[in-house]
Amino acid sequence: MSDLSKLIADTSATLARIASEHGPAVFASSLAAEDMVLTDLILKSGLGIGIFSLETGRLHKETLAMVDKVKERYGYDIALYKPQPEAVDAYVSQNGLNAFYDSIEMRKECCRIRKVEPLGRALAGNKSWVTGQRRAQSATRTSLMVEEDDPAHLMTKFNPLADWSEEDVWNYIREHDVPYNALHDQGYPSIGCEPCTRAIQPGEDVRAGRWWWEDPDSKECGLHMVDGKLIRIKSVAA
Ligand code: SF4
Repeated sequence: MSDLSKLIADTSATLARIASEHGPAVFASSLAAEDMVLTDLILKSGLGIGIFSLETGRLHKETLAMVDKVKERYGYDIALYKPQPEAVDAYVSQNGLNAFYDSIEMRKECCRIRKVEPLGRALAGNKSWVTGQRRAQSATRTSLMVEEDDPAHLMTKFNPLADWSEEDVWNYIREHDVPYNALHDQGYPSIGCEPCTRAIQPGEDVRAGRWWWEDPDSKECGLHMVDGKLIRIKSVAA
């Protein structure tokens, strides 16, 4: 069995275990390459793990196009969770549309309104959630485990691709002809909101294009943090 075949087998087993022992479970897709690998595995398996995405109102058109691509390919409607309009209006009227460039606090408040609060609604009623995070993605994810406690949401969080390399992800996408975000062909290895994501140069860290004006240690959006710290309270080896 090739290394990729083993990774696929292990990941499929993890997904099956999530569905059978930790359901109901949902997968938070950012519609990037890693998330398309998990989308392919989940929808082909028929495990019943729901898929949602946070439609922040600031996504690239290429990212939004992935919702239609998933519908065309798999016949599946990804659930879209949007921020509360009143909260967005209040932030923009008080601080300006792009105040997240002004300070880390302003950036985190924008992420809280557009991502963290909608995430809470998306996770409500579930026992566990799944992400496409990989350990090798950045300095903030080096201790990432396949299974972790998530004290912020009082549930279990699974990162089934924690052990995958970037090469593994792209080999899977090519071998299985999985649709992927067109931004990846334009120098974007990591994809978030349009004003907070840029293309990177060869040799740069894959997360260098996210919130590039901030310290590398602060580059998380709050979805995986509690009180400003990454959630790594209790990890369970797969
Ligand atoms: S990534 Fe940027 S635009 Fe998106 S929610 Fe965070 S600060 Fe706001």
